[in-house]
Amino acid sequence: MKIKVAKFGGTSMADAQAITRSADIVKADKERRYVVVSAPGKRFSQDIKVTDLLYECFHKLEMDGNFDSSFEKIRERFMTIAEELRPDLDMEECLDEVKQGMYKYGSTEYFASRGEYLSGRIMAAHLGFAFVDAAEVIVFTAGGEFDAAATRAKLKKKLSSVKYAVIPGFYGADESGLIHTFSRGGSDITGALIAEAVGAELYENWTDVNGFLTADPRIVEHPAGIKELSYRELRELAYMGANVLHPESIFPVRAGGIPINIRNTFEPDNKGTMIVPEITDARKNNTITGIAGKKGYSIIYIEKSMMNSEIGFARKVLSVLEYYNIGFEHMPSGIDTLSIVVADSEIAGRQEILLDKIQKTVNPDHVEIKDGISLIATVGHGMSFKPGTAAKLCGALATAGVNIRMIDQGSSEMNIIVGVATQDYEKAVRAIYKAFE
Ligand code: ADP
Ligand code: ASP
Ligand code: MG
Repeated sequence: MKIKVAKFGGTSMADAQAITRSADIVKADKERRYVVVSAPGKRFSQDIKVTDLLYECFHKLEMDGNFDSSFEKIRERFMTIAEELRPDLDMEECLDEVKQGMYKYGSTEYFASRGEYLSGRIMAAHLGFAFVDAAEVIVFTAGGEFDAAATRAKLKKKLSSVKYAVIPGFYGADESGLIHTFSRGGSDITGALIAEAVGAELYENWTDVNGFLTADPRIVEHPAGIKELSYRELRELAYMGANVLHPESIFPVRAGGIPINIRNTFEPDNKGTMIVPEITDARKNNTITGIAGKKGYSIIYIEKSMMNSEIGFARKVLSVLEYYNIGFEHMPSGIDTLSIVVADSEIAGRQEILLDKIQKTVNPDHVEIKDGISLIATVGHGMSFKPGTAAKLCGALATAGVNIRMIDQGSSEMNIIVGVATQDYEKAVRAIYKAFE
């Protein structure tokens, strides 16, 4: 029998009604044998995700030594869901146990993981599936690094004897049982790991939009849907801010050659987006596949005459970043100039010391850090077949009155990254979208 792994995101688990929809989707296809769930997300735009409430609890514990009032909000959400769906499940007791664990283990990751744990318990009871705790099968090292080989072995062993199961997303544990989590949105990774371990035919990722859209629907009104996306395009778009799917969830499925299908729990008849190893020839006619972007970057701008002929210049600059353990995103260069794009979070509070060290190391004519930058990636395999893509993109930004602060055509020939002032970000995304619509 073929196996499908179905992951349901926060909105699909937000309340009893959404969970019922999700469960109906699972029940409609016997091949949907392994179900991965997120913690309940937002029910309406001003609502707070359970995971954020859990981080709030941890914060309260650190500040006041007590998180009772924040925990009550979590209790209420789960009690309401359980009362509507599974009055037979002793939710009150589950919640008390979780709260005791929070005081006992007291780590931010333990706190954060409990939303998925509880949501998994409810979904398993509701579906009549086994509950497999992620702490048993998703393995981290004691230092909190994810351990892929150990995880694969544990998942294979455990799931070979469980035909239908619900597994909570987002977390796992180390050898001593301490809980660790992936980064935010990490339930997507759990689903991908399970799909690979069980050799699934398909990894379904059920969310609240009709698949991957050509742009962020919060910026562009009704962007077109993307029927098919290659693993590489997905990686670029997801990494650059299209947070429909966690960018790291691609690696396990790519290893197993398993397609991902992004679907909408609230419109289950829509076929959504298929993410496949290679795109079909027909798609190569489209110039671009999608646009994604992120705020919160700075550019380290270095100028020095004859820089280009100074052997080892870039290496010396990068050694400064390495010294301060700063990762960088892009590094376009000219004859006498070098720009290094870094996330603000990487250099926060260290700008002065960084400038000083660069000055001392390579003695440039000028060095400065320009902050308030946003990056926008325009992605598509079709770009390498169509001359003039960059010209069209730059023209659209010029017409919209957006100044390009940095431009980098990726070596893969399937993306163009521009850096713009953050106040121009939304305007720039809309202009690019319109140009390629
Ligand atoms: P889930 O909780 O199901 O994992 P997420 O909130 O993580 O869902 O991801 C889905 C959301 O991603 C959508 O509701 C949408 O607002 C946002 N999003 C951003 N960029 C895109 C895009 N290019 N296509 C579709 N959705 C996008
Ligand atoms: N609940 C976690 C988060 O909000 C993980 C996830 O939803 O994938 O980040
Ligand atoms: Mg998500």
